[in-house]
Amino acid sequence: MTKSYKHKLDLNKNKKKRIEDIIYPEWKRVAGILIKRHMNYLYRNNDICVSNDIYKNIDSFLTERYKDSINRQILGMFRSKISNFKRRFKQIVMHSDNLSDELKKDLCIVNKRNLFFVNEDNKGKKYKVSFEVIKLARWIFKHFFGRIPSCKHIDIVLQPKIAKIENPVRLKHMAFKYVIKLSSGDKEKHGKFFYLPVVSNTYADKFDGKLNSSCTLEFKDNKLVNVIVSKKIEPVKPKLNEDVKISFDIGNVILFALGDGSCYGKKYMKLLKWWDERLTQLGNKLKKEHGSKVKLTDYPEYNRMVSRIQNYSKNEINRLLNKIFKRYNPSVIYVENLDFKRSKIGKKNNRILSRFGLGYITKKLEQFEEEYGILIKYIDPPYSSQFCSECGYMDKKNRKKQAEFECLACKRKINADVNGSRTQPIFHERFGEKVFYGSKGRREKRTLLVKDYIDNQKVWKNDKRIVQAMIDNQYFSDYHPSLREKLRELS
Ligand SMILES: [Zn+2]
Repeated sequence: MTKSYKHKLDLNKNKKKRIEDIIYPEWKRVAGILIKRHMNYLYRNNDICVSNDIYKNIDSFLTERYKDSINRQILGMFRSKISNFKRRFKQIVMHSDNLSDELKKDLCIVNKRNLFFVNEDNKGKKYKVSFEVIKLARWIFKHFFGRIPSCKHIDIVLQPKIAKIENPVRLKHMAFKYVIKLSSGDKEKHGKFFYLPVVSNTYADKFDGKLNSSCTLEFKDNKLVNVIVSKKIEPVKPKLNEDVKISFDIGNVILFALGDGSCYGKKYMKLLKWWDERLTQLGNKLKKEHGSKVKLTDYPEYNRMVSRIQNYSKNEINRLLNKIFKRYNPSVIYVENLDFKRSKIGKKNNRILSRFGLGYITKKLEQFEEEYGILIKYIDPPYSSQFCSECGYMDKKNRKKQAEFECLACKRKINADVNGSRTQPIFHERFGEKVFYGSKGRREKRTLLVKDYIDNQKVWKNDKRIVQAMIDNQYFSDYHPSLREKLRELS
């Protein structure tokens, strides 16, 4: 696990001036050129450019090694922007109301295999998806990829080729934590370098670990403020309880409802809704002032609020999931597949959560999987809100109110989200991680669940009331004739 720490630098006027006034502006200028070149390359070749030729002919006083460092930084920005976009693309497609299931599947193939900019001439290569789909995917790409990463406020990421971060050896540096040996960067001053002393950070010093060979000079308003140093730290692996398996359901009022009945995140959902209203108000105000066609992300106050909400959401989800983890130390977590639209929590909540929450939940769960070895099992969500986790009876009318579940067969009353949470392991045992696509898939799943209940005769066989409920339930229509006969037998 890599952790980053900020340190102050102890620089005299000349060094500070050199970095801020000479190197930094040129770094940004070259970065700007590279961003444009990479973007063009991406559109033309459907891939990221990894060749060094991309920076070779840029005219600059900076050395080739410096240019190489800048290029690596830009490449890193592109890679993370693309992987974020691909995650978002999947969400946009899966949550869309007006795409057919077939089209959703094809668009996901385009996304998975990076076919966004494939030409029509390449169709012979059997991509399995039509060129029309590729064109639609490209349209989505152009609308949602967002701006080319801006380099107005970028930091300087120093690669080991131009800067070495080491423990102090010279007497005059002994008071410092590290020293960065930075090459001058100027072609004319080949072979020269200067030292940047790094001040101790008592918090960071507590953690031992192998120092990463690259570090970052952080700028604010064009002034050098910190150096960010990262260390590879061996995580202390907590012992997982082999026999503890938990499941949670993402709910309407509470965020995580666990199978044992405990709930987390009531405040979170409340606050998130409150924030969302404020954001909508701000958006409306801006549209009123500047016209309805304005791009809200052009306004700093809008972006500031979005990033505040994002930060809040990220921190809360981290906190809540860490708390759950600490309490149970589970070896397995069951959770519904978050790529799908969950109609049970309502349209508005769905929108807020997909915008601000689901991505962090997925990321955090992936982190649990990677760092602690917890198995995350994803469940296909449809019918989890109508299915009784106690007896297996499924009925639209089982859910009386948003928050309340009452089984029409076994009469069990339970918080709806807790019932959803208890359903997850049952669905997992029955279907594994199979995804039932589209309305046809959902029907298939429903038929299987209904048949399971019918086959489990001991729960309903001699109960007139339940037989009547099944007769009133359209899901059981295949069995209605025999159920009516059964009812006559029982009366
Ligand atoms: Zn029941």
